[in-house]
Amino acid sequence: MLLRSVRTSLYFILVLAAARFTHADTIPDLGTGIQETLQSLQPAEWNQINAGRHPALTIGGRITIEGCQSYPYHDNNSEELGFHRLASDLVAGLQQGLQCMAGLGPMGRLHPYHEQNARRLIYLLNDDSGKVLRCVEDRTFAYAVAHPAEAPGADNEILIDTYRISGFLSRKFDRATYRDFFNLSEPLIEDHLTGKPLHVDGMHRYRKLPALMFHEVTHWLGYEHTNLTADVVDLYETCCFAGSDHISDAAINRGFQQRACGILKDPDLWQANQSNRKKLWYSKRYYRLKREIRKASD
Ligand SMILES: [Zn+2]
Repeated sequence: MLLRSVRTSLYFILVLAAARFTHADTIPDLGTGIQETLQSLQPAEWNQINAGRHPALTIGGRITIEGCQSYPYHDNNSEELGFHRLASDLVAGLQQGLQCMAGLGPMGRLHPYHEQNARRLIYLLNDDSGKVLRCVEDRTFAYAVAHPAEAPGADNEILIDTYRISGFLSRKFDRATYRDFFNLSEPLIEDHLTGKPLHVDGMHRYRKLPALMFHEVTHWLGYEHTNLTADVVDLYETCCFAGSDHISDAAINRGFQQRACGILKDPDLWQANQSNRKKLWYSKRYYRLKREIRKASD
């Protein structure tokens, strides 16, 4: 009887552990883990909260979206819409990206190293650490910036700059720069600084926003950009989201996508230790990919 109740409680504990993914290894099946994680982030479970002066939206009870009324392109007709758009871009990005990392997407199986990363990401998305997506305007030099939590208990954060995403000209230059460098007339400078910011030619408006959200979330795994060894974050975005947002030609993008997926499948590269991976990155000339993508950009 005692044995039986011990066994029952053990079973119960195991079921609980699997349901909350308290450890990456307890995820029984990756496909199921992805689906359950995504379902727990569905709109039906969103609840609106009010964090002080800034409105916020919490999804799945654990990811907070703050200050995103203008996301993505400053053209929302209601204050809530931007928050919901960001939540749906995030979930869409996680769906496509996690499936791809797990080898369940159209690009086929990658090296098991990336399945393990998919498990780590599911674990992170389900744990109790704070996760915040915060929109800012005209504050960064990038479309978005991710900060993995620096200490246990600290928040994982993503800053999304809706000025950069929209391709708006910054309002932070001085008048002489607008006049001499951007060739703007005085009335236009006045409009830009006091009315709606200008969207000038040559400044990119980011279109594949689910890809951008997934890109930022993969930084939470601790990867930074580099060309001295495999740039895991860039490789995932290029392989899992059909090339680069800066290239409009679909055929060229497909070529880059296949090359990125090929690198993610290479057994030599992913079973190597860090220092050998660095050597292989050079000897196999994989470092060229990023350079060529930049060259082919519109
Ligand atoms: Zn990045």
